Amino acid sequence: MNELQLELKNQLEKYRLQKIEPHMEHDDETENFRMDIFNELGALGFTGMTLPEEFGGMGLSYEDFSIALCEIAKSSVSYAVTISVSSMVQAILNEFGNADQKKKYLPALTSGAEIGAFCLSESGAGSDAAALISTAKKSNQNGIDGYVLNGSKIWITSGGIAKTYIVMARTGASGGSGVSAFIVRDGTPGFSYGKKEKKMGWRISPTRELIFHNCFIPAENLLASEGEGFKIAMAALEKGRFTIGAIAVGCAERALDESVRYALTRQQFKQAIFDFQGLQFMMADMATEIECSRLLVLQSARDYDNQTPNAKLACMAKLKATDTAMKVTTDAVQILGGVGYTREYPVERFMRDAKVLQIVEGTNQIQRVVIARNLKKEYTTH
Ligand SMILES: Cc1cc2nc3c(=O)[nH]c(=O)nc-3n(C[C@H](O)[C@H](O)[C@H](O)COP(=O)(O)OP(=O)(O)OC[C@H]3O[C@@H](n4cnc5c(N)ncnc54)[C@H](O)[C@@H]3O)c2cc1C
Repeated sequence: MNELQLELKNQLEKYRLQKIEPHMEHDDETENFRMDIFNELGALGFTGMTLPEEFGGMGLSYEDFSIALCEIAKSSVSYAVTISVSSMVQAILNEFGNADQKKKYLPALTSGAEIGAFCLSESGAGSDAAALISTAKKSNQNGIDGYVLNGSKIWITSGGIAKTYIVMARTGASGGSGVSAFIVRDGTPGFSYGKKEKKMGWRISPTRELIFHNCFIPAENLLASEGEGFKIAMAALEKGRFTIGAIAVGCAERALDESVRYALTRQQFKQAIFDFQGLQFMMADMATEIECSRLLVLQSARDYDNQTPNAKLACMAKLKATDTAMKVTTDAVQILGGVGYTREYPVERFMRDAKVLQIVEGTNQIQRVVIARNLKKEYTTH
């Protein structure tokens, strides 16, 4: 880490230990999201790290952002994910929005005053996202050109607490080319919230259904042009991969930290359990896998910083880091024995939070599909 990265990391570590950590057990139990924590992270600059200063961002690199997400995840995967998804919305607006859209929506997001949500999945369109059926039909209401949205979205991270939603809906024929992206604000008539999911992990981050019933969206809220929505969504998800990987590294690091500390103090058979070789090998493997994951994540982030994006490596980073988080958190529960399985120690929370990292933003099977597709291309085009 360079000097700036070390400073960011130390600042975040101090904040999370003082302000986030004390609430985690209670808030996980009660599914309580604290907007004041998000606002404070914003005031410190962590909700708009990669956006240009012109729009209230810090103008930092994706590598810096990855380091920050990793640090936040050591206390709370939920807050790290909220920041990661909201930043994805900012990146979409910055890359595909026009000057008015950027000016209108970005400052509240970068400052952490508001949260953004990314809305692609539907009940019939998960891994096969291009199968979405929500519609946006051209309409003119009270002399204003726009679109009428109908349909629903499920699994939306920050649904209900976000103010700005990027919604993918069908304006044309089947498949990805018929999808457009719209900016929809909380409170728009015809837009309501459905079921809030009761989840195994990420319990502090609300996941909710969105319902659109004859919801009129002015044409000025269309992003880029008609038919660009799927391309916009895929570009955002590709960049999202190493951010999910960074969160996974933080989650795994915390689990290893808890394991080593516990193993050094817990005595059985008149010695610290750390000294049993069976556990030493587990911890050595955990540490090694975490470092492999971190290196992949940081390399992938640097590729985007250097304008040389590598989709295959981004998939590898997400796949490796999230599979590692699942394995390491599960092993951490094992190392702590009975207490690891209780809420007395946080490792069971990190194990529950790790699981969904293998599912979101393209399941790990889909990451393998993309890696294999790239391999085939490499071997058949040369
Ligand atoms: C907590 C949470 C938060 C989420 N947040 C958001 C959000 O903010 N915005 C949003 O748009 N979506 C969000 N999602 C949705 C998420 O992206 C989807 O759950 C994910 O893409 C998988 O879709 P699915 O659940 O429909 O599973 P399915 O696509 O039905 O997959 C089921 C199983 O089949 C496998 N499978 C599917 N296709 C293939 C294939 N071609 N080859 C091999 N295996 C395959 C999958 O890997 C999986 O194991 C969230 C989900 C969760 C659980």
